[in-house]
Amino acid sequence: MNQQQINQKDLRICVAVRKRPLNKREIAKKDNDVITIPNRDHCLVHVPKLKVDLTKYLDNQTFKFDYTFDEKASNELVYRCTAAPLIDTVFNGGNATVFAYGQTGSGKTFTMGGDLQSAKTDYSHGIYAQTARDIFHRLSLPQYRTSVETFVTFYEIYCGKVFDLLNNKKRLRVLEDQKGLVQVCDRKEQQVKSVQDVLNIIQHGMSIRTSGTTAANANSSRSHAVLQIILKTASTASVTSSVSGSSRNNNHNNPAVLRRPMKEVGKMSLIDLAGSERGKDTASGDRLQRMEGSEINKSLLALKECIRALGRGDGSHVPFRGSTLTKVLRDSFIGDKSKVCMIAMVSPTHSDVENTMNTLRYADRVK
Ligand code: ADP
Ligand code: MG
Repeated sequence: MNQQQINQKDLRICVAVRKRPLNKREIAKKDNDVITIPNRDHCLVHVPKLKVDLTKYLDNQTFKFDYTFDEKASNELVYRCTAAPLIDTVFNGGNATVFAYGQTGSGKTFTMGGDLQSAKTDYSHGIYAQTARDIFHRLSLPQYRTSVETFVTFYEIYCGKVFDLLNNKKRLRVLEDQKGLVQVCDRKEQQVKSVQDVLNIIQHGMSIRTSGTTAANANSSRSHAVLQIILKTASTASVTSSVSGSSRNNNHNNPAVLRRPMKEVGKMSLIDLAGSERGKDTASGDRLQRMEGSEINKSLLALKECIRALGRGDGSHVPFRGSTLTKVLRDSFIGDKSKVCMIAMVSPTHSDVENTMNTLRYADRVK
């Protein structure tokens, strides 16, 4: 699909589904492909005759989303439809947030472009790299050249606790003041000047990110990885962009910038969520695994409710206190200028169909 054929939509909440290709192991095991993407916004699950509870899955199921991507879709195409439209939001003083959702092994990290070690992955086209590239491109335009600076924070949320991936996994406290503003205390913010600066941070952070061993994948991530790219300007009377934020007074590394207070004028949050699988894949595990699983479940349910509240757009209650994930991302769910994109990743195989159905149902209910 070339660029002209991409129909970018201006959506407050965008929900997309991406199917990954069968891998060698699945082909060798003759695990059937049960997912069809017949066009750009539908996804069909062929419910096979099998062990799944037939009271839950009666027939083949069709789902409709804002975008659906088949196994041939490139990271570039996925980026253009999902995160790229949110760059405007960031430069308009808003909060833009992209979530990669799905069971372990479905392609979340691949889509974000976080697997920087892997020679076979085209990480330069992942969402992290392309978002950074487009932000720096905009910033090189004359109107921004001197006034806006870019900072990155990178942390993970594991079992409801926050650890700084920019600072040796230091445990960070999350505090909420009387007005409901949430602060992740003492998190490190690093100034970045190039795409490579951002990728270096991700590469280091990913290498220390918490992962565990489940039956599904020997390297399954049990934590949410939160990367935020924050635009700031010197805080003067002439800055009119609104700032809704939790991080106005964070320290960072640049002594030149420390001298004057900086004001947040736009933020992009890119979240590689923990694996969404539950039930038999992990329930047989030990106490720690069960605790991880229930924390993940709790945070993903809270996330869905918060996105739905943003979608109602009527200022109704946002239940952000339901989990640490939604607490630290509170800004993402409030305000006229917030936009969210959820990319739900699915595995194609028959043996993953239960997790796939859960993912599609979750994605279906986000809007
Ligand atoms: P997750 O982060 O959801 O656990 P990964 O992103 O690590 O999953 O993907 C699991 C494996 O599948 C990796 O080897 C990755 O390179 C591969 N993969 C995932 N999505 C795709 C895709 N769309 N095209 C090709 N390979 C993919
Ligand atoms: Mg991953």
